[in-house]
Amino acid sequence: MTDKAKRSAWGILPAEWKSICKELGLPAYRADQITVALHRNLAMSWDEVTTLSKDLRQRLSENFTLDPLKIVRTHTSTDGVEKLLLECCDGEKIETVLIPSKGRVTQCISTQCGCAFGCAFCASGMGGISRDLDAGEIVAQVVSACQLMRENEDLVPAKSTGAPRPGNIVVMGMGEPFANYDNVIKALKILNDQRGINIGARHITISTCGVIPGIKKLAEEGLQFELSVSLHAPNDHLRNQIMPVNKKWPIRELLDVCNAYTAKTGRIVTYEYTMVKDFNDGTTHANDLIKLLRQCHCKVNLIPLSPVEGYAGKRPDDRRCLGFLDSLHKANMNVTMRKSRGKDVDAACGQLRTNVANE
Ligand code: SAH
Repeated sequence: MTDKAKRSAWGILPAEWKSICKELGLPAYRADQITVALHRNLAMSWDEVTTLSKDLRQRLSENFTLDPLKIVRTHTSTDGVEKLLLECCDGEKIETVLIPSKGRVTQCISTQCGCAFGCAFCASGMGGISRDLDAGEIVAQVVSACQLMRENEDLVPAKSTGAPRPGNIVVMGMGEPFANYDNVIKALKILNDQRGINIGARHITISTCGVIPGIKKLAEEGLQFELSVSLHAPNDHLRNQIMPVNKKWPIRELLDVCNAYTAKTGRIVTYEYTMVKDFNDGTTHANDLIKLLRQCHCKVNLIPLSPVEGYAGKRPDDRRCLGFLDSLHKANMNVTMRKSRGKDVDAACGQLRTNVANE
């Protein structure tokens, strides 16, 4: 069997290991041993899995690869944000970002190599898409981060106990998670599993540009992941200009589906609103946003634009951002503003990959 035909061991659910062990004629407890070795003890090769016999390790290595993603580049920003450029087996490069804050590390992970949705201000979509990541490659980003955290004390929160791992996962890196739905949900289930990396569902946030079928599907899953929706504009006229996806799934339809999601799951949706100078950051825009979301049980997260090459938009100054925030506060909306971090490491989606490609 060539490496190409092997399955990535990182992308296998604990329940699947049970059936794999059965097929191989192994007792069920072997499945738990494998999960613990891979996802808790972060084995880098089958040889490290010493709870299994040499023979068994050999059999497993013939069928399942345990290749972590290659760390091509790490880049630390002055505020402690660590950006990693990772290489997949076929040479495709993806990004992941580690953001230490309040005694935890939040990791931002990618779901696709590039992105097909072409939001005007997002570097990930500027080169189009080459392919989806498989579940193993999505999980392996977190494994790479855990390994880095093991080696780098600066990334480990002071009060952390047990093996270092991110406290939160945000699916806000390169790609549109709902355009790669099955692999993303599978990977998140693996990351969430208590026998493995064990990241609580409420510490995992999926962000979508508004892919309605994905939101509907997620509503039926009975999972507790957090959902963010990139809104970025208070009306279709503006949203059409920066988000081509709005022509397919316009704001009214999107909000109706999000409201149905909340009714069905009891989970509140967070709307992301990237503020672009003189485009969507004025008092009328704030008032329109308030009117639009008044009937929704939701949160709003304001993000000052992180300027990218290839998009002429600018970041509004602090006074304007705070003014927008204040208008929403006064209307009793549940609103936060994301601190811009990692600016000196090109931490906005897809920027590191684009810059390396241009070097
Ligand atoms: N495709 C998904 C997830 C990836 S983008 C989505 O669209 O939600 C994650 C978030 O970062 C989105 O809200 C996106 O709009 C925002 N983002 C992308 N580029 C940005 C930039 N240059 N400045 C500020 N926010 C940006």
